Amino acid sequence: MRILIISDIHANLEALEACLRSAPAYDRVFNLGDIVGYGANPNEVIDRARALGELFVRGNHDKACTDLISLEDFNPVAGMAVLWTRNQLTPHNLEFLRQLPAGPVAPLDGMQCVHGSPRDEDEYVLFARDAFSILTNAEHPLIFFGHTHVQGGFWIDADSGQQGMIEPGYESREGTQQSTLALANSGRYMINPGSVGQPRDGDPRAAFALYDSEARTVTFHRVPYEIAAAQEKIFRAGLPERLAIRLEEGR
Ligand code: ZN
Repeated sequence: MRILIISDIHANLEALEACLRSAPAYDRVFNLGDIVGYGANPNEVIDRARALGELFVRGNHDKACTDLISLEDFNPVAGMAVLWTRNQLTPHNLEFLRQLPAGPVAPLDGMQCVHGSPRDEDEYVLFARDAFSILTNAEHPLIFFGHTHVQGGFWIDADSGQQGMIEPGYESREGTQQSTLALANSGRYMINPGSVGQPRDGDPRAAFALYDSEARTVTFHRVPYEIAAAQEKIFRAGLPERLAIRLEEGR
């Protein structure tokens, strides 16, 4: 089975459409959350995401936009985007966000999907020591996570005890590119497909991944998209300017 893994779309319709245009053939779509927040097309992106996929976990922005959590943990810019998004959402889409399940969910044998981490849906797994402690105790050898907006991840080898980081190797930051990781049978992995709509790993191109369960590979993808169009919508919506500027920085 070939599974398109997408995360952190953040209401960026241009980035989502670009990813879907360049995605190879797939059988299912797993969505790791933060469908909305930051970007200017929350309803359009929810409509598109609902039509695509049957498997979701909720993100912190999805929760915040439905009043499920307070905004105390959000910085002022993110908080303003949440309030703007709440006002835009149709009742139908608000209800959709409200019923999204908390991670982890385990849709396939040996695989888990989370927004943050298996132990806390809001945890940022940015550092190897956190990832290795999660992987050492993991119930499933393959965990897909989002939340950090950094494509790549972490691995440990259950037999040899070796461990390392996963950093997709691209020839350049131009054009559409992909990078394939072969999964070892004795390996345990935490893999982040990257953020569709607001990358923060220094590469402004939209990110996603494709997991092929028969070939035992994960292919990371980066796709250019019309950043200027997404920025223009953010400016026009009256959202904080920083949310537009960071798109071209990939930060
Ligand atoms: Zn996010």
